[in-house]
Amino acid sequence: MMASCPRSWSPFRRHFDMRSRVLILSCCRQQYSTRTMSISTARLCKPPPRNTMRLSRVWAPLATLLGLSSVVRGLAVPAPQIRSLSINRPKPGLEPPEFAFAFDIDGVLLHEKKALPGAAQTLQYLHDHSIPFIFLTNSGGKHEHERVKELSEKLGVNFTVDNFVQSHTPFKALVHGEHGLENKTVLVTGADASKCRDIAEEYGFRNVITPGDILVAHPEAWPFDALLDTVYKDVARPLPKPLWAPGQPLEDSLKIDAIMVMHDPRDWAWEIQLFTDLLQSHDGILGTYSDRNGDPDLPNHGWQQDGQPKVYFSNSDLYWVTDFPLRRFGQGAFQHAFAGVWERITGGEHELERELYGKPYGVTYQYAEDMLRKFRLDMLTNMGHDELGDLKRVYMVGDNPDSDIAGANNHVSKYGTKWSSILVGTGVWNEQRDGMRKLIGDREPTAIQANVLEAVRWGLDNEGWKHHL
Ligand SMILES: [Mg+2]
Repeated sequence: MMASCPRSWSPFRRHFDMRSRVLILSCCRQQYSTRTMSISTARLCKPPPRNTMRLSRVWAPLATLLGLSSVVRGLAVPAPQIRSLSINRPKPGLEPPEFAFAFDIDGVLLHEKKALPGAAQTLQYLHDHSIPFIFLTNSGGKHEHERVKELSEKLGVNFTVDNFVQSHTPFKALVHGEHGLENKTVLVTGADASKCRDIAEEYGFRNVITPGDILVAHPEAWPFDALLDTVYKDVARPLPKPLWAPGQPLEDSLKIDAIMVMHDPRDWAWEIQLFTDLLQSHDGILGTYSDRNGDPDLPNHGWQQDGQPKVYFSNSDLYWVTDFPLRRFGQGAFQHAFAGVWERITGGEHELERELYGKPYGVTYQYAEDMLRKFRLDMLTNMGHDELGDLKRVYMVGDNPDSDIAGANNHVSKYGTKWSSILVGTGVWNEQRDGMRKLIGDREPTAIQANVLEAVRWGLDNEGWKHHL
């Protein structure tokens, strides 16, 4: 039987344990009921994790203690004073953990750029107990240093870039290696393409140009100058080589080796025009046209079969959220628009070939896991732990079933590390609006918890961790 629970008094909360297949509907005042979905186990008898009332009781004195002006019942907590994470020393009898956490940021740690209750407390606890974690966000358009500084200020805890992955961070792996782009010419774009250039250069790419560079050098390429005078002329750089023209040697002409969409583009029409020009070119030389395009005797009818640049998208989110009442187009919307035009160009013969990064894609999860393993190794060995067990489990805490949860569920670690997914109700997914019906297939989380603090408690309980948060 379900316990009654006035929502104004204490929020309704669900704890969904996929392993025991038991849906626990928990309410306040330690009243809770259970409904067995399939085979019940001993977990049925386990009380639900600490409820929101306890969070309020814990958070209020903690927030006061930390000098924060708390808003216990609301979502937002004003920016606190920043505390540094001191260097830990191994605690007697504390074995190095064989698990770690990965956190999405928006909707998990922050809401509308303000800290969510319990977020700082949770991260401080993990640090104090030497439990490794990593930030894994689809944000972009700023350098990691800048993003980490903002996060530190909002949560009141100092972080570093050593465990911070945003959407385009894995592009760093494209700099070196057998097919490294370090000395190739890379075209980058984003909301502020000039800033994206700076980021790419910090990553190690040496020859970075923007669509604005090309437009300023060749205004005839897109003769609609709305942004030419107001934006591009102020930040454009000279092109390293001139555009190809009839009679000009190809080797003396501008050649683009890769296109990187690092953030949400602004000038869609010009950029779709430019990108489709390059994907129809010979060998990425702007101004040429490949004679392989549309050849039915070639693979993919010859499209993207003549040395054209690869296209990298740093995330595929269709929407993002602002204060406007409706969701706004994100980089994913640009990608669909570009792909739609490409389909028309090719007569539907050839789908746009592209490289997809960010959540939920495996390349990003593996990059994050690699970084997490290094972060864990450095942290625990610096503390004096000589022998580390392998990293066996990572708990991904996110608010978006389509990206955070699906990505963790689908990730197959090259090291055999298992990823679990914990969905929280403080962001994109809303139980009242979205319900449980869409949480199926790869969007079905391992567990659902009210917020990040409860999510970490669930993970710690699952590990049998004796030091309670
Ligand atoms: Mg999120």
